[in-house]
Amino acid sequence: RAYDLAAFRREIEGIRVYDDPKQVELKSRDYFWYSPILSQALEGRVGDLVVLPTDQDEVRRVASAAARHKVPLTVRGGGTGNYGQCVPLQGGIILDVTKIDRILTLEPGRARVEAGARIARLDDAAREGGQELLMYPSTRRIATIGGFLSGGSGGVGSLRHGMLRDDGNVGYVKVMSVEPEPQIIELHGPDIQKVQHAYGTNGIILEIDVALTPATDWIHTAALFEGYDRALRFAVEAQHEGLDCYLLTPVERRFARFYSKYGPLFPADRDGVFAMVAPKEMPRFEALAAAHGGKISFAMPKPELVAAGLQPAYECGWNHTTLQALKADKSWTYLQVAYPRPFDPELVLRQMRRYGDDVYMHHEMARLEGEVQIFGLPLVKYRGRDAMYRMIREFEEIDGCTIYDPHVFTIEEGGMKQIDRSQIEFKKRADPYGLMNPGKTQGWTSDMAARP
Ligand code: FAD
Repeated sequence: RAYDLAAFRREIEGIRVYDDPKQVELKSRDYFWYSPILSQALEGRVGDLVVLPTDQDEVRRVASAAARHKVPLTVRGGGTGNYGQCVPLQGGIILDVTKIDRILTLEPGRARVEAGARIARLDDAAREGGQELLMYPSTRRIATIGGFLSGGSGGVGSLRHGMLRDDGNVGYVKVMSVEPEPQIIELHGPDIQKVQHAYGTNGIILEIDVALTPATDWIHTAALFEGYDRALRFAVEAQHEGLDCYLLTPVERRFARFYSKYGPLFPADRDGVFAMVAPKEMPRFEALAAAHGGKISFAMPKPELVAAGLQPAYECGWNHTTLQALKADKSWTYLQVAYPRPFDPELVLRQMRRYGDDVYMHHEMARLEGEVQIFGLPLVKYRGRDAMYRMIREFEEIDGCTIYDPHVFTIEEGGMKQIDRSQIEFKKRADPYGLMNPGKTQGWTSDMAARP
């Protein structure tokens, strides 16, 4: 270890820490275990100490001490990322920000909140005032708003409101630098992109202003079809028809065995579309399903669904679909796919024929650059690294899909695809010693290598 942890600890005396190896190990992990490739790459990577500040001034003391003693610092929210975003590659401290969680203001159209606030708490508070979040990850219950901004991209609600990075969804971010004298940096408008999806490598996010919209009492529902192509065509047409939906998730019948709670509501001989639909749209939703030979399996507001022992529809979508399967059988993993536009359901059928029992299909619909974009999160039987990358090549080269590789831990190899120079420039200001989540950005590593 190149840093003096004892000296660091002395400086932050009075702030809660824990160093029990089991707890530290637990807080050094996220959901990277979805990927056997990441499981191998990240095995044994743990921090030295978890630090749990309770207010922004304590965060400042921690940031200052980390900078003075050159202690690596990995920020952690809910720890639900899928790419090892929260795994400290070079030890150091895990800065658990979940106590920095005050809801500061709730106004018509906007909320200002501390970054460690759980998304569910924020959305529930907004709902009490007749508003709701534009979008959230399906990990709504555990994930924090800061973790969503730093590690996520969109999710439930993205069909209606686009991706998180779209203009206006986040209006303001307050960032603290990691320096002996930590600075507060305020970002507005397009400048927010400097920290968006940066994996906590360029500043500690303290506060976020997010957009709200008038709340809808979404009906959680599923329609069942005789054929996955019918399910896909129905979902695509529901959008052409402009049905007001917050979620539209086609899931093929072979997933039914992983959705045991649903029993006959999602039987093994029907393909499903799980959805959240505006109450006034239910008659149109039902009629459109019938026009595709489909039937409504269930339709109720969330409180009734939960009282019936069922999961909300959004926990049947996005990466929860993968989670349902992995809970039952760890021999699976997954891919993240963007399909070419205009979307052709025939392409999915060709892929299903090509991969047979090795791929189960699940799709998500979102709005990207104003247009409906179909994403796939197929479940993939893991047959080794070479087979996985062969499949990725086939999706890209034969089918024209774009893969956001979920088996890598740097920002650039995964979703971003390229070095974001503005994020690296911002890191020079917000993390000049390169202490934050080291090893997660290739841009910084190559920048350092090029310095004399
Ligand atoms: P964490 O995992 O704690 O952190 C994520 C990254 O952000 C880390 O690099 C961390 O260092 C950094 N970070 C956290 N807080 C701060 C802060 N205050 N300042 C600076 N950096 C910070 N993602 C989606 O986008 N959409 C989905 O629908 C979705 N569904 C999911 C379903 C499942 C079952 C799982 C396991 C994951 C899913 N994810 C999804 C990924 C993940 O849940 C989300 O991105 C979530 O928003 C992460 O929030 P978190 O608080 O858990 O972040």
